[in-house]
Amino acid sequence: MNNEIQMVDLKSQYLKIKPEIDEALLNAVEGVAYINGPQVKQFANSLREFNKVASAVTCANGTDALQIAMMALDFKPGDEVIVPAFTYIATVEVIALLGLVPKFIDVIEDTFELDHTKLENLISDKTVGIIPVHLFGQCSNMEAILSIAKKHNIAVIEDTAQAMGAEYIFNDGSKLFAGTIGDIGTTSFFPSKNLGCFGDGGALLTQNIELGEKVHIIANHGQRKKYYHEAIGVNSRLDTIQAAILDIKLKYLNDYSFERQKVAKKYDELLNGLQGLNIPAKAPYSTHVYNQYTCRIENNRRDELKIYLQDKGIPTMIYYPVPVHLQDAYQVYGYKEGDFPVAEKLCKEVISFPIHTEMKAEVQDYIIENIIGFFN
Ligand SMILES: *Cc1c(COP(=O)(O)O)cnc(C)c1O
Repeated sequence: MNNEIQMVDLKSQYLKIKPEIDEALLNAVEGVAYINGPQVKQFANSLREFNKVASAVTCANGTDALQIAMMALDFKPGDEVIVPAFTYIATVEVIALLGLVPKFIDVIEDTFELDHTKLENLISDKTVGIIPVHLFGQCSNMEAILSIAKKHNIAVIEDTAQAMGAEYIFNDGSKLFAGTIGDIGTTSFFPSKNLGCFGDGGALLTQNIELGEKVHIIANHGQRKKYYHEAIGVNSRLDTIQAAILDIKLKYLNDYSFERQKVAKKYDELLNGLQGLNIPAKAPYSTHVYNQYTCRIENNRRDELKIYLQDKGIPTMIYYPVPVHLQDAYQVYGYKEGDFPVAEKLCKEVISFPIHTEMKAEVQDYIIENIIGFFN
């Protein structure tokens, strides 16, 4: 059994819907419209409807989506963008690539999201954007972030790469999908994301039709009409084949979220209360779609636990081992150890256990038994 345990089981997920996927793939291949085929428009439309949003534009990957968002919002070199120190590198990379200045912000220890109480202090007359990252599948506190952003006339880009399908719950009880609350939401269809394709893919969501149009133009070489370029753009397209696959998988996204939530619930119930382990906190203002099930391990025992489980054939991952402000490539911005104590602490404490849509009960039992075994 041990050899079978994986962080993510993409093979079983595919096999479950194989006939549908294979047919769509073959249609796409035989249709030969490999770039911008009808499947791309069809999927963009499905994605727009699913998220109840005014505009959905597909692109090549989630990193491009972030870049295109910042280009569409007219961020200029030297402008400052506030971004959590604890995130995947892509969020920060495009800020740097566009000549913008990342202003790191610390995160909240139990929900892993940017700490909105620290926002006001970071805002200067150069601040143009805030990028909340809905890390591991749960929304950041959007109402708190938006109220500050509105007050200072700052754009909000939601990095929704890990939270497609999660819902933000407003104080009045109304809900909106992650990525549809700020000015632009970006997402990724990397295979292990909650909605994953068979390669790279990404998309941008916005409630602003004009902005959506601009996003579309920028993602397509700055052209509305072929060979007439009204903006400096990029070449960032979702393949027809990937769109065909995604249009099918989107129909199952709610089921996938449900399966992930079931796995998380069982981990929660059986791991809660273990001395030295903290299960992931659930924010009252969001549903959680658990792209990752990430615990915090106290007393410097995280690495020991990882090796212990590895010896039992149980894979785990550390998302992320180094905060962005301490990465070699980002030293030019002048941050140092101690600047963001929570992010730094999390990098030493977090561990993600296997979670996916095809988890077998006996496999999860074995994983849980061994985690408990380590602490007892
Ligand atoms: C995966 C991911 C991205 C980048 O997506 P790609 O499609 O791999 O470019 C950006 N931000 C976060 C938080 C991610 O998890």
